Amino acid sequence: MGKLSCKCGHVIRDTHYDLPYKGHVRRDQDDEYSFDVVTRELALLTEAIASGQRDEWIDRNFLPGYPHDDSTEGLISSYLSGFDERFVLQTFECENCGRLWVQKQPQANSYFSYSPDSACFNKVLASARSVGPPIIDGQQAAHSQEQTESIKSEQSRWRSWIGKRLS
Ligand SMILES: [Zn+2]
Repeated sequence: MGKLSCKCGHVIRDTHYDLPYKGHVRRDQDDEYSFDVVTRELALLTEAIASGQRDEWIDRNFLPGYPHDDSTEGLISSYLSGFDERFVLQTFECENCGRLWVQKQPQANSYFSYSPDSACFNKVLASARSVGPPIIDGQQAAHSQEQTESIKSEQSRWRSWIGKRLS
């Protein structure tokens, strides 16, 4: 996309990875189908590697010229990213007015816009890893005491499990 001018005047830029205002939408009607196709194709890749048919799998799934000496991790990464482009709608939230811009079709350079009731940047596309509890109507929600205890308990069980595996 590069950049998109929002109706409020703000310019939304898609210039690098890890943007807190960008997301990817997969339509529910494509979800099961795409999951099945990916699962089947990656299973075929493992079988192809085991039976010495790796080059044939590459030829079937990539354009001519794709490097046959790519690592298996590189193959899977390239396959998944190409596959995603067929099904995923890029989505942006304006940092000024909170308006959501959703790609009309995968790979299309046109977007529908939706304006939130709160008329502010709600960080709905920001990772929970970086923003903590969700923002609701412009206010950052606090974890309840119950949620905090549940998170601490889960972290404690996880540390214990890891500790047993490492000792
Ligand atoms: Zn805006």
